Amino acid sequence: MLSQRVRNIAPSATLAIDSKAKQLKKEGKDVVIFGAGEPDFNTPENIKQAAKKAIDSNITRYTPVGGMPELKKAVAEKFRDFNKINYDVSEIIIGCGGKHILFNTMMAVLDKGDEAILPVPFWVSFEEMIKLAEAKVKLCPTDEKFKLTADSIEEKITDKTKLLILNSPSNPSGAIVEPSEIKKIAKLAVENNFYVISDEVYEHFTYGKEHLSIASLNDEIKKLTITCNSVSKTYAMTGWRIGYCGAAKEVITAMENLQGHSTSNPSNIAQMAALEALKGSQDSIKEMLKAFDERRKFIHKRLNEIEGVSCVEPEGAFYAFPDISGTGMDSMNFSSKLLDEALVAVVPGMAFGKEGHVRLSYATSMHEIERGMDRIVKWLKKR
Ligand code: PLP
Repeated sequence: MLSQRVRNIAPSATLAIDSKAKQLKKEGKDVVIFGAGEPDFNTPENIKQAAKKAIDSNITRYTPVGGMPELKKAVAEKFRDFNKINYDVSEIIIGCGGKHILFNTMMAVLDKGDEAILPVPFWVSFEEMIKLAEAKVKLCPTDEKFKLTADSIEEKITDKTKLLILNSPSNPSGAIVEPSEIKKIAKLAVENNFYVISDEVYEHFTYGKEHLSIASLNDEIKKLTITCNSVSKTYAMTGWRIGYCGAAKEVITAMENLQGHSTSNPSNIAQMAALEALKGSQDSIKEMLKAFDERRKFIHKRLNEIEGVSCVEPEGAFYAFPDISGTGMDSMNFSSKLLDEALVAVVPGMAFGKEGHVRLSYATSMHEIERGMDRIVKWLKKR
C-alpha cells in the first residue's frame, strides 16, 4: 500500500549503525562508537544562553517561512566575509538543518528525466534525495586519494545533466577538491548550463588548507550554484536543526514555496541560537579544529599500522575512510562483525558507494580512539 517513492528509499546506513551501537550501549555494553557524524563537543555556552533568552522573551511564534530577516542578514554577512560571495538577503533561505536545505534544493531544481552527477564516495543522503526528486544518479569516480577532477566530471556530462553535487571537504573521505579543479568545474557548469549544489558544511575543518567556495569565482557560476551549509557541524549544533543556503532568487523563492507547505519556518528559538552562533565569538571553532587535527593525525597513523588496512590522510571534515579490502572482508561484513565481536562501530563504505572501505568518525575523544584502535588490532589478529 505504500508509495513507490518511499519504497525506493534505502534506509540511512549511518543512522542504522549508530542506533544499533547506541542500543548496545544502553544495554550496558562497552561500545566504542566511530559511527556518529557529529562533533562530540557541547554547543557553546553563549549560543545556549541566546536560546534561553529567546524563550524568556517569548520569541516563540511563527517567523517568516524562509527565516528571520536578522538571521538571513547574518548569513549574508558570513557568506560575504568567510566565503567571499555577495548574496543579497533575498538570495538566502533558512531551513530545518542542512539536510532539509539540500532536500528542498533537489526538489526545486530536479525533474524526472534529469541527470545529477554525484562523485563517489558520496554522503549517503545525496543519492536518495536525487532519487526522491525522480532524477537519475550519474556516479562519477574520484582518484585513489578520493580527489575529484573536472575531467572525470566532463565524461559524465550529457544533454540531460541538470546538476552536479560538490561536497568539499567530503563526507566520507575528507578529501578537498583542489582550487584549480574547482575553477575548471565552474567553467564546465557555465558552458553546459547545469546547477551546482556546493555542500560546504565542513568548510571550517580543513586543517591548514584554504576553503574555496565555487560561487565566489564569478557571477556566472554564482547564478548556477546553490551554496548549502548549516550550523550543525561548525558550532556543535547538530540537534538544533538550522541550515541555510545562498542561491539565485528564483531558486530561493521555489524553496520557500516548498517550505511554506511542508515545515513552515524552522524553530525560531533555534534561529535565535544560530544568530548568536554566527555573530558571537568564533573561538569554539578553533578549539574543535585543534582537537580534531590531533585526532586526525593519530587515527591516520594507527590505521596504517594495521595489517590489511591502508588509509589516505584525510584533508578535511572529521572522518577517516580506510581501505579494508586487505582483510578479506567486504565492508558490510567487516562493520557488522566488528560491532558484534569487538564492540566497535564503524560505517560500511558500501553505504557511500565505495566497497572495500569503512568510515570512522574521529569526532570522539582521543581515549576512545585509542581504545577502538586497540580493539580493531586485537580482533583482526584473532581472525
Ligand atoms: N551534508 C553533509 C556532507 C553531511 O555530512 C551532513 C551531516 O552529516 C549534512 C549535510 C547535514 O547536516 P545537518 O542536517 O545536521 O545540518
